[in-house]
Amino acid sequence: MNKDNPQITIDDIINNIKYIDNQEEVEKIKKAYKFALNIHKNQKRLTGDDYIKHPLNVANILSTINADAETIIAALLHDTISVGNANIEDIESKFGKEVASLVSGVTKINKLNYNNTTEATINNHRKILVGLTEDVRVIFIKLADRLHNMRTMGVLQAEKQKENANETLEILIPIAHRLGINQIKSELEDLSLRYLKPDVYFSIVERLNKSKNERNKYVQEMMDNVSILLNEHNIKHEIIGRAKSIYSIYKKLDKGKRFSDIYDLLALRVFVDTVSDCYQAMGLIHSKYRPVPKRFKDYIAMPKSNMYQSLHTTVFGPDGNFFEIQIRTYEMDEIAERGIASHWSYKEKGKNLMKGMEDKLQFFRSVMEIKDSNEEDMKNITEALKNTVYIYTPKGDVIELPYGSTPIDFAYRIHSKVGDSMIGAIVNETIVPLDYILQDNDVVKINTSNNSQGPSKNWIDMAYTNQAKNKIRSFFNKIDKSEYLKIGEELLNKELRKRKLPISEFIIDENIEKILSELHLAHVNDLYINIGNGKFTPLQVINIITKEDINKEETILNRITDSNESSHNGDIIVAGIDNIKINLAKCCNPIPGDDIVGFIQNGIGVNVHRKICPNISQVTEKLINVNWNDNIIDKYSTHIIVYTDSTKDLILNIVSSAKNNGISIKSINTNKNSLKNIYDLKLSVKDVDNLNKYMNQINQMTEVINVERVIK
Ligand code: MN
Repeated sequence: MNKDNPQITIDDIINNIKYIDNQEEVEKIKKAYKFALNIHKNQKRLTGDDYIKHPLNVANILSTINADAETIIAALLHDTISVGNANIEDIESKFGKEVASLVSGVTKINKLNYNNTTEATINNHRKILVGLTEDVRVIFIKLADRLHNMRTMGVLQAEKQKENANETLEILIPIAHRLGINQIKSELEDLSLRYLKPDVYFSIVERLNKSKNERNKYVQEMMDNVSILLNEHNIKHEIIGRAKSIYSIYKKLDKGKRFSDIYDLLALRVFVDTVSDCYQAMGLIHSKYRPVPKRFKDYIAMPKSNMYQSLHTTVFGPDGNFFEIQIRTYEMDEIAERGIASHWSYKEKGKNLMKGMEDKLQFFRSVMEIKDSNEEDMKNITEALKNTVYIYTPKGDVIELPYGSTPIDFAYRIHSKVGDSMIGAIVNETIVPLDYILQDNDVVKINTSNNSQGPSKNWIDMAYTNQAKNKIRSFFNKIDKSEYLKIGEELLNKELRKRKLPISEFIIDENIEKILSELHLAHVNDLYINIGNGKFTPLQVINIITKEDINKEETILNRITDSNESSHNGDIIVAGIDNIKINLAKCCNPIPGDDIVGFIQNGIGVNVHRKICPNISQVTEKLINVNWNDNIIDKYSTHIIVYTDSTKDLILNIVSSAKNNGISIKSINTNKNSLKNIYDLKLSVKDVDNLNKYMNQINQMTEVINVERVIK
């Protein structure tokens, strides 16, 4: 089982990666080897081997799951920073951005210290490991790194061996399992058992060895019989006798089974070409060998969450032996053994591949989150992936927060009660203001008081995470309920008047019932409160009733409209500052050509408004000059409303005119009453000229009273 190979050379690896057919990439792998060789030239492993043998072995393990060139290169370089003295800039200039980000990813997660793990922190560590990893390939390298370290762990002290084995079992193996990389997972399990419970491990090995010849004889006989059976029915197949892993036997013994009772010690795996062959083969086998009741599992119809598919059954074989038989297609086998790594694909290289893998990782992240988090947390975690800081409590627990977080976020992350009663924060033994931006490895202590009056409203702006913002808001929501109730009712009535919808006709039981059920509210008071606190806009509420009038054309339009959103960061120049995050204000939706101004939002970036936006007109502080860049290619979202004086439907004219001007309509809502039609349009436009021309054309339609750009 010890597959460590101290004699391994770069030629072995080149030999193993024949699946990479791009010669340039192969040369780059050789270059990475030379680079690592030079960095590690005088370094030795504890085993006494040259250090370079470790990255070579890690790369070799990854070649067995057909890792791509970047992953192999990053594996060769993975210790050049933390163990050697290479730097990331050098790696980036020699091997490119992608490799550099993989190497720094591995370096980063290797720095994490998982000692003294309790149930809660184990869960946390798994999350952090996954959360830290933007690119799933970093996790593959980490797993291969650990696998080789475990294979060569014999030289370590027993205590250290146990610690590593424990950590592998608790943190890395569940990740390997979720990713479905059975090949690596199974060897890690066996190695962990070998160091955690050597006596159990070796006694299983010994018993397996003793019964080996006998078992081989039975398995061979059964393989021959099944093969004859399938051939008689023209099912093309291959059969292998399958060794159960030592760890899986241990698990069964641990559940109280006796060694002689573990029937699936005799195990076969049948490979066929198609899914229907799987079921047919299963049927034939069951017709000849009696199945053991309740042992049949159809993971083809119902795949496991890590995408594993197979048919499993156990049958009574000749001589009264039990055989566990798995039947699967070659494709299913690929996924079973390599999990999401089986999706490496060298023909469709590029974005699609990465995107697919990211989706898998995302899926995996969500699986890990499901147990103890709500949707809001999920969103926060996803947001946090790019720029994350790791903060310590005074007790040494790690808390993961997005960069930009303040002590307020930290306090609310620990508990709402801590946040609500916070009176100050101490970072690294120094008192800090509450809008202090937390840095990696800060030790944060929150001072609380029972006499605290609760959070103050400007904490909402100081907090960075939605979680904290929402918790502060919900503190005020409780207090402000009666106030919001009043405001909400006023807002709704005002909007109804504006739209010439008689209040007495709108606020009727039938409509209210519909609105409450649509918005999942229990009582009309809740409706007003939620309008008052801004959760729903009055228009949103009114639309629930009036949207029934929306034409079928619009439904079709909604389906085909373009909703492509991009970040526009380079399109706006902020005087004197590079690389700052730009957010376009949703209230006034600025587009190129508009006079604009920036509002600095601490720790987030610059919010860009139109100069005429009333929301910014009161503000004097924190404003900054911003300008549009000259050559903008992106399209921009904006919002207009068209009022017409008849009930004649202008929707087709509006849409075709947009098309003529190269403007895409992202959504369209119609309000109709007996006097007029109101079209509410979300557009994607090039710039102000583009928009004005379009609005003029609409204005020239005889039925149109007015067209206006919306500022909320
Ligand atoms: Mn390493």
